[in-house]
Amino acid sequence: MTQIVKMKGMNKYFGKLHVLKDIDLTVEKGEVVVIIGASGSGKSTLIRCVNGLEEFESGTLEVDGHPLAPKSGNPKSLAEIRKEVGMVFQQFNLFPHLTVKKNIMLAPQKVKSTSQTVANATAERLLNRVGIGNQADKYPSQLSGGQQQRVAIARALAMEPRLMLFDEPTSALDPEMIGEVLDVMRELAKEGMTMMVVTHEMGFAREVADRVIYIHEGQIVEQGKPDDVFDNPQNERTQAFLSRVL
Ligand code: ADP
Ligand code: MG
Repeated sequence: MTQIVKMKGMNKYFGKLHVLKDIDLTVEKGEVVVIIGASGSGKSTLIRCVNGLEEFESGTLEVDGHPLAPKSGNPKSLAEIRKEVGMVFQQFNLFPHLTVKKNIMLAPQKVKSTSQTVANATAERLLNRVGIGNQADKYPSQLSGGQQQRVAIARALAMEPRLMLFDEPTSALDPEMIGEVLDVMRELAKEGMTMMVVTHEMGFAREVADRVIYIHEGQIVEQGKPDDVFDNPQNERTQAFLSRVL
């Protein structure tokens, strides 16, 4: 099996704060890994390290064969990783002055020199795929939160990523819009996309995850198949966390 993410003995500090502690984590191609844990436990920092948005102090990290070194990173790897790894944030971060379609066309044209015609066709195909083919010429502010997040997913997919990172993609949404975004993610998982997902949607985690990882104060204290972690957590921290959120 191909390992898309290989993290070994990784440590990350913000000043004196030891945020990630000796993290060993591999993600196989096609695997869906859901990361859960309390606020401030280091979930965002962990996935931000994977696409080089955060540097780390020690350990090794390889993403799809591209090595990132502690502190200095590795500019060549970083550029490759940014092309291959899509990220979806809690806040949709769409470009407000561009139409939905232009939001999706921008990165392939800039980063991959994709032609206008091809980028346009790709954008239309992806918008249909996330169920909003009829919104292409609107501006982000004219869309609902759920629709904007689906545009953000389409925008990431336009780069044909080998790995998708999601950081609480439904946390900023009104409850009635959460389902439509989770549906798109569920489809992606079914189609074999490799995914790392930080979420508080435990139903989604149970249904879609191949593996659930529980992080407590910067450490992976438990991981396993969703049914095992949710129904029979071994670590008392996990038990306490789950009893609060389930
Ligand atoms: P989570 O996503 O699990 O809520 P984070 O990864 O965002 O946790 O944060 C982990 C810890 O690191 C928290 O204590 C947070 O306050 C701290 N932290 C996060 N980002 C920064 C930063 N840029 N500078 C300093 N501390 C940070
Ligand atoms: Mg976070």
